[in-house]
Amino acid sequence: MADDRMIAAPLTDSFGRRITYLRISVTDRCDLRCRYCMAEAMTFMPRSEILTLEEIAALADAFIARGVRKIRLTGGEPLIRRGVPDLAAMIGRHIATGALDELTLTTNGTQLPKQAEALFAAGVRRVNVSLDSRDPDVFRHITRWGDVDKVLEGIAAAKAAGLRVKINMVALKGLNEDEIVPMLRWCAAEGHDLTLIETMPLGAVDEDRTDRYLPLDAVRADLAARFTLTPLAERSGGPARYHRVEELDARIGLITPMTQNFCEGCNRVRVTATGRLYMCLGHDDRVDLKAALRDGGRDALDALLDQAMSAKPLRHAFKIDARNAAPAVERHMSVTGG
Ligand code: SAM
Ligand code: SF4
Repeated sequence: MADDRMIAAPLTDSFGRRITYLRISVTDRCDLRCRYCMAEAMTFMPRSEILTLEEIAALADAFIARGVRKIRLTGGEPLIRRGVPDLAAMIGRHIATGALDELTLTTNGTQLPKQAEALFAAGVRRVNVSLDSRDPDVFRHITRWGDVDKVLEGIAAAKAAGLRVKINMVALKGLNEDEIVPMLRWCAAEGHDLTLIETMPLGAVDEDRTDRYLPLDAVRADLAARFTLTPLAERSGGPARYHRVEELDARIGLITPMTQNFCEGCNRVRVTATGRLYMCLGHDDRVDLKAALRDGGRDALDALLDQAMSAKPLRHAFKIDARNAAPAVERHMSVTGG
């Protein structure tokens, strides 16, 4: 059960937004190198600075005690870190007590054939799997060396283990825009939801993201010309806005940080694998929780969480166009997780 502090001091920022959703990056490393996410030669955080799985579980406990109801494990690629299903089980026990509504995971899917069953056993019921293309050559190009068959195998393993799958697809001009409708049809046939994402200017990569930026308002207009899209009121706790695609009996989500700011209803914060708490994906402000976690005890940690709440900004200020080719923040998405 959550302790009294959950009722006494739920995490609320200075704009009155309740923080109920925590994303934890368990590693910034990855077995792929998606071009919009990472440079080919990346410098990763030193292993000596990474929190242990027990420390991450203790952090999760502290956030749950302050009213967090949903936790997503992410990265980097979370499933390449050894023991992540054990971490999921440590956090997942809060679902059984009713203190946590949901534990989910964002993954590139390559390790799911080996780990899907253990994740289900730990209490995970839904996973987001990134799949920007089902074409082997395009997939290899986008991820630099990925094998799409491994990911498709992972998605099948997740489904077989009883996990609901949502496909994340970053919309990339000239790379996968022709695959959006086929991906939607495939997801409908397989029973997966699909979420399209706009590229965000996070961290330096080897190419200019503006070349590949595909605004989703144009994609939505194109989809609306082909299908009947009914906006859905329901939200999954994250930033996606969902539509029902009537002809396919499918759902599509759109994450539009660039064309339609969604910060007003933000309920999220993110912790890195080194214990840094970022209050916004688009800002560098952070609070380092590691020392308090290791030596300070729960009161010291709670004081830092309160400090973080008062510093959470109202909104990000991403821009992506020819004049704003530089990243909005130096940190890659893989550090704070998607
Ligand atoms: N490795 C896992 C994966 O790919 O699903 C989890 C981490 S990844 C950083 C989480 C999500 O962020 C993925 O869906 C990925 O496509 C997306 N992503 C990464 N860099 C991005 C960027 N610069 N703009 C928009 N989405 C990005
Ligand atoms: Fe790895 Fe995910 Fe980034 Fe691709 S998007 S490089 S799979 S962390």
